[in-house]
Amino acid sequence: MTNIIKNVGVIGAGKMGVGIAHVCAASGFNIKLVDISDEILSEAKNTIEQNLSKLVKRGRMSEDQKQITLQNVSISSEIKTLADCDLVIEAATEDENVKKLIYDKICPILRDDTILATNSSSISITRLAAQTDRPEKFMGVHFMNPAPLMELIELINGIATEQTIFDIIHQFALKLGKTPVCSEDFPAFIVNRILLPMVNEAVYTLYEGVGSVEAIDTSMKLGAHHPMGPLELADFIGLDTCLSVMQVLHDGLADTKYRPCPLLVKYVEAGWLGRKTGRGFYDYSEDKPRPTR
Ligand code: NAD
Repeated sequence: MTNIIKNVGVIGAGKMGVGIAHVCAASGFNIKLVDISDEILSEAKNTIEQNLSKLVKRGRMSEDQKQITLQNVSISSEIKTLADCDLVIEAATEDENVKKLIYDKICPILRDDTILATNSSSISITRLAAQTDRPEKFMGVHFMNPAPLMELIELINGIATEQTIFDIIHQFALKLGKTPVCSEDFPAFIVNRILLPMVNEAVYTLYEGVGSVEAIDTSMKLGAHHPMGPLELADFIGLDTCLSVMQVLHDGLADTKYRPCPLLVKYVEAGWLGRKTGRGFYDYSEDKPRPTR
């Protein structure tokens, strides 16, 4: 059944779009990666090349496989280049309005049988699906970050998603070498429903002065065996994405335990979004990240 998917479009060439393009291209799919920014697109191609080179260096991929994977990826700032795709995965900014505007543009261009998926970390799949002309061919395909390394994909049906579409995407996820899990369409699904409140609590712990950035991250790494401290993780995810997931949890479940920490809000207002802007809970301007509090 997966054979019907050959050409895959990815919308958004940020951290996730680049990772998704890499994973799909390495599994033999033809990838068209689209973004509004030419600068981001050329950076994206370089990032994919650098990440593939690392795999070659570690002996996890041959030079030939790297070249084939790169040939499988084409980039464009024109959304209409996605017209012949069998599957389009939207991985743009975690903002419902941004996604809605993208669906308005892409739906009239796509074939009727093209499957449209979102990589959203938290927004209701049913609500996003209702913004499209194909709710029965729309679902959540949630890759983890970094997509090439993380084994899991969460699959989320909207209320209208057809079983055959789920089955096709389930097979697609297996073909990527990932382990799919099925989540019901509730705010933030499974992983982020559990992970982001922990990250938010770490920011409260900082905000209330219980510990410094270093103390909090060291505590969770050495005291709970987390591979990354929660504040380091927040910077890695992007503080805007963390805030957006907490807002979706807070609004969607109407429980004050999901209230975004005011310090997280302040960092996002300052444009301190973590690694992607060079500053968040750490300053990344030097070789070794330096805690900012
Ligand atoms: P990002 O900010 O790194 O990248 C978003 C990209 O979308 C940017 O390059 C931006 O230029 C592009 N974009 C915005 N509007 C666009 C448009 N109209 N057309 C085309 N491109 C457009 O964000 P990200 O971290 O890659 O997240 C993308 C999606 O993946 C979000 O829905 C997020 O919730 C989800 N996600 C993020 C993570 C994570 O750890 N960051 C993990 C899993 C899923």
